[in-house]
Formats: sequence, C-alpha cells, structure tokens
Amino acid sequence: MAALLPPPITPVELTGLATLVVAVSGACVGSFLNVVAWRLPREESLVLPGSHCPRCGTPLAWFENLPIIAWLALRGRCRHCHQPVAVRYLLVELLTAGLWVAVLLSHPSAMGASPARLPLLLAGWLLVSWLLPLVLIDLESLWLPEPLCRYGLLLGVVVTALLVLPQGAATGKALLLSHLIAAAAGLLGFEGLSALAEKLMGRPALGLGDAKLAALMGAWLGPVGLLLAVAVAVFAGALAGGIGRLSGRLKRHQPFAFGPFLALGAVAVWVLGEPFWLTLAGFSAAN
Ligand SMILES: [Zn+2]
Repeated sequence: MAALLPPPITPVELTGLATLVVAVSGACVGSFLNVVAWRLPREESLVLPGSHCPRCGTPLAWFENLPIIAWLALRGRCRHCHQPVAVRYLLVELLTAGLWVAVLLSHPSAMGASPARLPLLLAGWLLVSWLLPLVLIDLESLWLPEPLCRYGLLLGVVVTALLVLPQGAATGKALLLSHLIAAAAGLLGFEGLSALAEKLMGRPALGLGDAKLAALMGAWLGPVGLLLAVAVAVFAGALAGGIGRLSGRLKRHQPFAFGPFLALGAVAVWVLGEPFWLTLAGFSAAN
C-alpha cells in the first residue's frame, strides 16, 4: 500500500531529532487542548487562571505542567491532594504528539497540486489540533460547540485561500470555490440527512453539531476529501456501533457521538491523501 502514496510533504530530510521536536511540540499543544476541552464547556477562560488541580485547586508549578513526563513522574496523582489525575490527560498528550508526527509524514491532496510545503505542514497541525477538543467535548457531552465549528470553518477557508491562490489565479479560485461549495454541501447534506432520519425513525438520529463539523471539514478538505472522510466516518462508526452492541456496552437506541468518527475521517484523508482512499475504494489512482 505504501506504493500508493506520493512522497510526504516534509520539506527536509527527516531526522530523528526533527521528529522528536515535532512530537514534543505536539505533546505541549495536547496539554493545552486538554485545558480547552475541560474549560470551554464550563465557560471558563482558556488563559486565566493558570493550570491548577481540578480537585484541590492548587496552582501547578511549571514542572507539574510538563506534558506526559509530569503525569508519569507523579504516577497520575496530584502532588498536593494526592487525588488521581485522569489518564485522559496523558492519552490526549500522547495522541496529539502522534498526530503531529503523522502530519509530518502526511500526503494531503486537498490544496491542489503544488501548495507551499511549510504552510501545508502548519495547516495540518492546525487542523488536527482544532479537531481534538471537538472530539473530546463530543465524547464527554454529546455536543459539538458551535463557536469551535464556526471558527474552524472560517479558518479552513482562510487556510485554503492562502494555500491555493498562490498556485495561479484560475486554479486558486476554482479550488477555493470548490472548498466553499463543499462546506455548504456538508452543512446542508447533514441537516437534510438529520431531518430525513428523524422522520423515518421518529427520533433524532444525527445531531446538528455533526452538520456544522461536516461544514468545517468541507472547508478544509474540499468536495472529494469531504465525501471520502464521511465514508470513512460512516464505516468506522458502523463498525464501532456494531462492536458496542455485540459487547453490550451500547444499548439499543442509545445515542453515541458521531463527531469523533467524522474527525477520524478528516484526519485519515488529510494524512493519507485522496488518491490512497480512492484507490482503496476501487477507483483508479490516475483519476
Ligand atoms: Zn490536587
């Protein structure tokens, strides 16, 4: 399958040190995303007060804020009140570090044939870092915050414009327009599906937050990327739902978050690129 992949976007020969720097940066961003996912639904400021133990409120020293290392060194407990610190903090930091390295090795194809490489790399890091809090909040409370979706969509349009317009006026405008159409189609398509499913099943089946997330994804991925990402999401969601039902962890009609599957689809399409998924789906890679 590796033969299907074009060379990755990394502008320089990858060294172990560069990969390590990217992983550590990702872990630091993951540490901040933990704060975003905790504070945003509680309407707390993202900046003030500084990090503190959610149980005893003691402000954390700089070394207690070190991503991954602090959690491991303190064995998942607060240094002051000795209450457990959720393993989720460690997992999110590890996951962000992994995603940042994945972006370093990615093959995104949504931004045309010849986007500038460094901005494309930055765009990938921004996209995965934006999606993560949405995933965490949806998992925790079955809710995708509207402002995160709205600003994520706007950011997608701006990033697309910055990456595609330098590739020539005609190509750039056509690509930008296709991404705008994909955003609108994602929103309207999912809203339509949601209304249809509610009519057929007599109960809400898809949250409207999913429509806003699909719009965000359309702005970043364009029409083909959005379709592929939704296909990956439906496949992964059906698989997880089936396993959940069989193992008894998911009850009949019990709602579960679909946002994480959409985000998974978006990351999968960004990292592996459209040709990979089109070929996997049976289309010729040349198309
Ligand atoms: Zn504490």
